Amino acid sequence: MAESGEEKGGALVVVGSVAIDTIETQADRAPEVLGGAATYFAAAASFFAPVRMVGVVGSDFPEADLDWLRRRGIDLAGLEVRAGRTMRWTGRYHEDMNVRDTLSFEANVFDGYLPTLPAAYCEAPYVFLANIAPELQTRVLDQMRSPRLVGADTMNLWIETARDELAALLRRVPLLIINDEEARLLSGERNVVRAARRILDLGPTSLMIKRGEYGVLFFSGNSVFSAPAYPLEEVFDPTGAGDTFAGGVMGYLAATGDVSPAGIRKAIVYGSVVASFTVEAFSLERLRALTRDDIERRYRQFVSLTSFDVA
Ligand code: AMP
Repeated sequence: MAESGEEKGGALVVVGSVAIDTIETQADRAPEVLGGAATYFAAAASFFAPVRMVGVVGSDFPEADLDWLRRRGIDLAGLEVRAGRTMRWTGRYHEDMNVRDTLSFEANVFDGYLPTLPAAYCEAPYVFLANIAPELQTRVLDQMRSPRLVGADTMNLWIETARDELAALLRRVPLLIINDEEARLLSGERNVVRAARRILDLGPTSLMIKRGEYGVLFFSGNSVFSAPAYPLEEVFDPTGAGDTFAGGVMGYLAATGDVSPAGIRKAIVYGSVVASFTVEAFSLERLRALTRDDIERRYRQFVSLTSFDVA
């Protein structure tokens, strides 16, 4: 990532899954609710910057959800509606909510989908390749003219089944945002710091490793930054926390254009703040009621949570 300070902000393109989820926790169950990595990302980023979404949904995708995304100011010109069923995912959380099982997954309209960006999207300065097959992420990146910052996420499935495509993509991605389990799998290292060093040799110049309730580690060159997760008494549904974290980070960077080390630290805290709200309710429910004031208030709590005197 460039080490320059403030530059003008701009629009943020995101590609990734848009899905209908069924989520089971030990306490409750939410059938057929709004989900998908790009959906969580876009909703979070829309608190900060203009977002343009790329993906596909089926004819069964609720119109009310499309309306809500539009009302959040998200540009849906790049979201295709195809005949057929929307992607479906069912997940079940263990008592320890850091652990979950995928009970079922159907790609549905994502099968054979080839994203084609509306012309206006290609000029956007910021792009995030949220979780989806690396070949689709690559296809979107290929269509971007000259983005100022490219970020990406991935998941175990692609690390295991599409490693070559992912490796080729990573050489073109300056900012990778993945969780600790993915970092271990991608690098073959158990220790997260060693894993980070290995991953920074694969292409990305900056890496954010999401560690659930343990917060986030950021690696760039020789510098390391650590942010805690906001301490919550109850986590209701962790689904999408990582995607909303990335949405907050990229949304803040797109809004300010400030990719200096200080700007990135602020972006990481904004990402952590939005993620902390996401887990307070099922699906995107908490984000629907969230305001920018709520975000600012919790941002200030984060500052006091982590401030201490130099001896
Ligand atoms: P996260 O909690 O950040 O892992 O993201 C959860 C979202 O990822 C859910 O809303 C799912 O719809 C979506 N998802 C699950 N499996 C896949 C997959 N194989 N490809 C893309 N997205 C997926």
